[in-house]
Amino acid sequence: MAAIDMQEFVKQCRAANPLFKENVFASLLEKIKAYNTNLKLGNQARTLQSEAGIQILLRNLSQDLKTRYAKALAYIQAKIKGALARPDETAVFKLSIPIASRSSPLDVRGEGFPSLAAIQEVGRNLAIICPLVHDLAKSDHEGPRRNWFAQESLREVHSSIVNLDQYLNRQCTGISFKVLRVGGRCDGETVDNSLAGQVIRAVMVGHEDRPDYRKQGGYLKVPWGLRIFFGPLYFSVNEHYDAVLKTVAIYRFMTLFHELTHKILRTQDKVYELSNCLSIKDTANAVMCADSWGYFLTDYANTRNRLPG
Ligand SMILES: [Zn+2]
Repeated sequence: MAAIDMQEFVKQCRAANPLFKENVFASLLEKIKAYNTNLKLGNQARTLQSEAGIQILLRNLSQDLKTRYAKALAYIQAKIKGALARPDETAVFKLSIPIASRSSPLDVRGEGFPSLAAIQEVGRNLAIICPLVHDLAKSDHEGPRRNWFAQESLREVHSSIVNLDQYLNRQCTGISFKVLRVGGRCDGETVDNSLAGQVIRAVMVGHEDRPDYRKQGGYLKVPWGLRIFFGPLYFSVNEHYDAVLKTVAIYRFMTLFHELTHKILRTQDKVYELSNCLSIKDTANAVMCADSWGYFLTDYANTRNRLPG
């Protein structure tokens, strides 16, 4: 982990575009400044936090900026890469989680987790998620559906919930979780500190498009066991991430469900983060968006007083 030379960064931006003005990257430069300060003070926790902030900003830049300033942005990445200590990749934890809504326990396997407690937390979250999904599946009026999904999508939302219920409470036999380290690779991309979770996307053929996994019986195509990856942000995230994800425990709960919907409903990362999910909630994109599902279940858990922590 090294300080980022802001003048060097600006110089590289000017090389890419002689008309470059610093205000194009105003918030990025601000975050870099905080990162450099925390680094200099030797405050590792805060350095990692500001680094995650930089990564999130970089990820959300417009494609146009990413392309135009690719070299300058790569300079920043090179400076901050490899910040987190490697997790112990040899540690494997195996748990059998009793879950109220299931007739048999769920097998949970954790690879590379920093502690037994960290994978036990995943197990506790599954023991909350499965019964909540089961309750949602009982009635198409249950839960704050219109807070997150469009009126026109409500049928698709309900069949999705039924698929989640059938899968999580009946079909699924086990889920394995693996921790990814910074600089490692997953699904063709290099892992950075802004990554919270990841799954390997299934290859889809032409007819398996949009509605297929979210209509009746879609769960039958999902394999009996799942594999989900957690990235550095899952472990380094701050309290008060946003107005819904108020604690680290809630952030992790939401991230787990986000990843489950990728696998079971074939959701995509249409957008990330609370404000973006709220802005697409009345569009057909919301029902396909993993973060929208994550916020929906977190919202529901809150109304049922079932949030972790
Ligand atoms: Zn995702």
